[in-house]
Amino acid sequence: MDVIVVGGGTIGAWCAYFLRRAGATVALLEARTLGKGASSRAAGMVRAQGGTPAAVQLGMWSQEFYLAQPSDLGIDSGFTQTGYYMPCFTAADVDAAHERIAMQRECGLEAVWVEPDDVDSANPTLAPGLTLGASYYAGDGWIDPPRNVLAYTAALLTSGVTVMERTAFSGLRRQGDRLIGVETTAGPLPCDHVVLTGGPGLAAVGEAAGGRIWSGGVRHQVVVTAAHPELAPERVPMMFDVGSGIYWRPEEGGLLWGMSNPNEHPGEAVEFDLAYFTTMRDRMAELVPVTAGLGLRRTWAATIDYTPDHLPIIGPLLRAGEPVAGVTVASAGGHGMMWGPAVSRAAADVVLGGRSDVVDVGGLGLDRFDSRGHSRLAPDPIALPFPELTHL
Ligand SMILES: Cc1cc2nc3c(=O)[nH]c(=O)nc-3n(C[C@H](O)[C@H](O)[C@H](O)COP(=O)(O)OP(=O)(O)OC[C@H]3O[C@@H](n4cnc5c(N)ncnc54)[C@H](O)[C@@H]3O)c2cc1C
Repeated sequence: MDVIVVGGGTIGAWCAYFLRRAGATVALLEARTLGKGASSRAAGMVRAQGGTPAAVQLGMWSQEFYLAQPSDLGIDSGFTQTGYYMPCFTAADVDAAHERIAMQRECGLEAVWVEPDDVDSANPTLAPGLTLGASYYAGDGWIDPPRNVLAYTAALLTSGVTVMERTAFSGLRRQGDRLIGVETTAGPLPCDHVVLTGGPGLAAVGEAAGGRIWSGGVRHQVVVTAAHPELAPERVPMMFDVGSGIYWRPEEGGLLWGMSNPNEHPGEAVEFDLAYFTTMRDRMAELVPVTAGLGLRRTWAATIDYTPDHLPIIGPLLRAGEPVAGVTVASAGGHGMMWGPAVSRAAADVVLGGRSDVVDVGGLGLDRFDSRGHSRLAPDPIALPFPELTHL
């Protein structure tokens, strides 16, 4: 094999597909079954309105990819463009939004500022008079995460990637400094390159490869309310109240909304935290009053991946500060729906040629972290309130 990709989530799968499409022979190792990690459990929010130029570029590329799927693949991830408002509640929010819009427009994204009255009229379910305005991009939207798993499964199988489910990666095989293959639960496999993904379990994958990857996993939860006429999809554009870490979009005639507790202890978590939901339900009712007292149709919690600066990792695995030849790490840092295709494609490009036109990967490698995991990059300010670095 030219390349072995570890992890059958959205990052590993789309990366394997891009590598295969470029002509490489590729095997994908998945410890469980395709999509069993974060990728099938996501809320599906897809936003190009990032807080840094790299975030914007990754979001824009991913949206173009989703839009081209029907003609390129004959199947799609269900991308629906509903527009996304980032509401401002303080004067500082307003200043930051104007700066962000200028940066986004420089990247080619047609984000705009929307005055408070216009935010209210475009969002009839939002409590009126609450915001000082919002930044907005009409092209943002959402995908259907289980359908994305279906789409990448079809892409893997039809493009000729060898898919090995229930096969875990357990280490690298090297001859001196040269990579010669991987160890797996199905025995050793030869290859020239390895791509390490793993979502919330990426740090453990890195450890098995003898490196330190600064990423973690933590509980994140989502609910879908009962249907209500006021929540008809055309009345509900997407919104993100960054301060409280609540975002929402239409789903099945009701509202899907997600939340992350910044005081959560990192680690695998699948139990729904009813107490935290109850606290955040009050904030949600302030924002979208029709949700007060509305029943729930679905609730779930799952482990989401994160990095200390909320930015992706694309670059070589490091061992004692030195790149491990032939081994590339890829993570969307908790943004696998909105950045996943672009991160995957950039990682595939790095394997094949050391660089990518999708994004400048120069600053996105593990070498941006010091020995305690502090990043030299400013964090993406538009992100969920993940646990502090000290927990990693
Ligand atoms: C509740 C929730 C809501 C979310 N909402 C959004 C959203 O709205 N928008 C957004 O952009 N992102 C969202 N995310 C984040 C997004 O889902 C993730 O960033 C993305 O799915 C990560 O993809 P991945 O391929 O890196 O990881 P995963 O999907 O977790 O896949 C990693 C795979 O690696 C496998 N694996 C692990 N160890 C090994 C090993 N040793 N050998 C072989 N295989 C291994 C695992 O079994 C797993 O299948 C959400 C996440 C959650 C949990």
